[in-house]
Amino acid sequence: MEGVVAGSTVTAIQRAGVVGAGGGGFPSHIKAAASADVVLANGAECEPLLRADTELMTFDPALVVRGLELVRDSVGAKRAVVTLKEKNTRAMAAIGGALREAPGIELLPLANVYPAGDEFLLVFEATGRVVPEGGIPLDVGVVVNNVTTLAQVADAVEGHPVNEKMVTVQGEIREPGTFVTPIGTPIEELIGSAGGALVHEHAVIVGGPMMGHLMKPGGEPTTKTVAGVIVLPLDHPLVSSMNARESQVLRLARAACCQCMACTELCPRALLGHELAPHRTIRAIQYGEFPEDHIHITSAYLCCECGMCELFACPLGIQPRRILADLKAELMRRGVPNPHVRTDLSPDDVREYRQIPTARLTRRLGLERYDVDAPLHEEPLRPLRVTLLMGQHVGVPATPTVKAGQEVLRGDVVGEASEESVSARVHASIGGVVESVTAEAVVITAAS
Ligand code: SF4
Ligand code: SF4
Repeated sequence: MEGVVAGSTVTAIQRAGVVGAGGGGFPSHIKAAASADVVLANGAECEPLLRADTELMTFDPALVVRGLELVRDSVGAKRAVVTLKEKNTRAMAAIGGALREAPGIELLPLANVYPAGDEFLLVFEATGRVVPEGGIPLDVGVVVNNVTTLAQVADAVEGHPVNEKMVTVQGEIREPGTFVTPIGTPIEELIGSAGGALVHEHAVIVGGPMMGHLMKPGGEPTTKTVAGVIVLPLDHPLVSSMNARESQVLRLARAACCQCMACTELCPRALLGHELAPHRTIRAIQYGEFPEDHIHITSAYLCCECGMCELFACPLGIQPRRILADLKAELMRRGVPNPHVRTDLSPDDVREYRQIPTARLTRRLGLERYDVDAPLHEEPLRPLRVTLLMGQHVGVPATPTVKAGQEVLRGDVVGEASEESVSARVHASIGGVVESVTAEAVVITAAS
């Protein structure tokens, strides 16, 4: 196994390939090398149906708290806070128990609303500070790490690279559960471990129902950032919405938007004071133009793609999030810089009353029948083959360091991070023989 230099948390995190496990994928050693006065453990797990972080906090709270202590000390923070939803009583009790051994760390119970785990909202709830437009929590002296990331930080310092992750499998499946899954496990195999799909004609959402994506037709492997897999009937409205073509999305927006403003009134970033108004963006694209200096076009840079506007707020099925995401990608492709950089922001007085209870959101999504326990299976899955993507993090993909036919042990480096840019290492999640190597992925077949 790849060793880790003792005495340096940042080096250990870097060598272990830890990245933001909550979906962000930002390499964690960069955050740990910063200076901040507050560190937050994000255990909100606000996406409906997902349970992996909650199961982790319930079954290994000490590991999460240890990771938080390590990051707190690394960034020199005076304050450390574990945040999680009050409704998760078992996890609350477990974390509370672990904190008795870690004096000085606070526990902040969160309401069961969406998107409670959005970093900007979490920073505001814990500190009263508002992250500036186009900024990151560090701009207001805060570092936020997902609880799974923190557990991986604690493991990293003990010399264990990121090999596996808890993943929740929910939806139309026989045995909903949370599985300890080697990175790179085929998602169809993971679904098989949960007893298989209950409907033949099904779609698979990788991630949560609000911010996840439909699995590619040929299948996908799990990555360091996948926390959930949701199986739904092919004709479920959520699947239809995700399947809509860009031209359909634009046509509906132009033809049907009545400018009711519901999308803007419920936008969590707008309620924090950011200059984001999805209804105005829809108006700005009404005539097929793309004025890249228009304030409500460039405001796409401020959207966190939480999906509240399109999956809850809009009464007409219009998809502002999708439109904003496409605009953001196009602005970046054209090299248009983000002009929104205001720092003096005041949250809306009504913000507190416009937070959406997760149970209500789950009903609106048509997912309430799938909102069941997903108990942890502690025995790790043993896939016969894993596909380790070199680009499963923010930044430059790793470069493969192995050749086809080479034997590898679990924990060996198979992809080295770029030294010049933001990047992260990739390790073998199972022992075996390297079956194939491309710039995109290393495939390993398990040793028999
Ligand atoms: S997805 Fe919609 S609700 Fe969420 S931040 Fe973007 S505009 Fe606001
Ligand atoms: S909620 Fe829908 S109809 Fe209303 S302004 Fe927003 S996009 Fe238009």
